[in-house]
Amino acid sequence: MGEMEDFCVTECTRCPALVDSRSQIVNGTGPEDADILFVGEGPGAQEDSQGEPFVGRSGSVLDDQLRIVGLDRDSVRITNCVRCRPPENRDPNTDELENCRGYLEQEIDLLDPDVIVTLGKVPSEHLLDRSVAVTKEAGSVEEIRLGGTPRRLLICVHPAATLYDRSQEETFESALERAADLAGVDGSAGGQTRLDGF
Ligand code: URA
Repeated sequence: MGEMEDFCVTECTRCPALVDSRSQIVNGTGPEDADILFVGEGPGAQEDSQGEPFVGRSGSVLDDQLRIVGLDRDSVRITNCVRCRPPENRDPNTDELENCRGYLEQEIDLLDPDVIVTLGKVPSEHLLDRSVAVTKEAGSVEEIRLGGTPRRLLICVHPAATLYDRSQEETFESALERAADLAGVDGSAGGQTRLDGF
């Protein structure tokens, strides 16, 4: 882990195909003491060019949904299973996921979040180490062990899923509400409920 002194990987050549396809390494973003960590699959074209996770179409869906449940993008941490854009936006393969795993584990270790929210199939299966039916299992919470430390993981659909299937918006929103709840973050949704009582 010599390349990574903190949350950022500045140099890595472990995945030959990704070294060719990336224009830069895309590290996680957000406060280094955030309560919630979102984990996506890997950078797409927008992320690769801007150097930040979830800044394309999926990113605007994520931002909108975060706002709806009273969370602010600036208050959460967002990262990916792999930090370099795979060619033609293919899924990262097993070797690439393994090559990047140490960086993700170190980020989780340093951040020590209350809850890790996996966005979609790839991150859910990667961290749970089993097959996951994301649509069915979205909203469920499981305990995983990383480096001997128990971590709470919440399965969520990928934000892009809501673009193809509107019915998944609700699934996505409920999962985010659950995440805010688990992290003890008081979103505006909760605030509104209380105001309603006055
Ligand atoms: N999809 C992902 O899984 N991650 C990103 O950073 C952007 C889109």
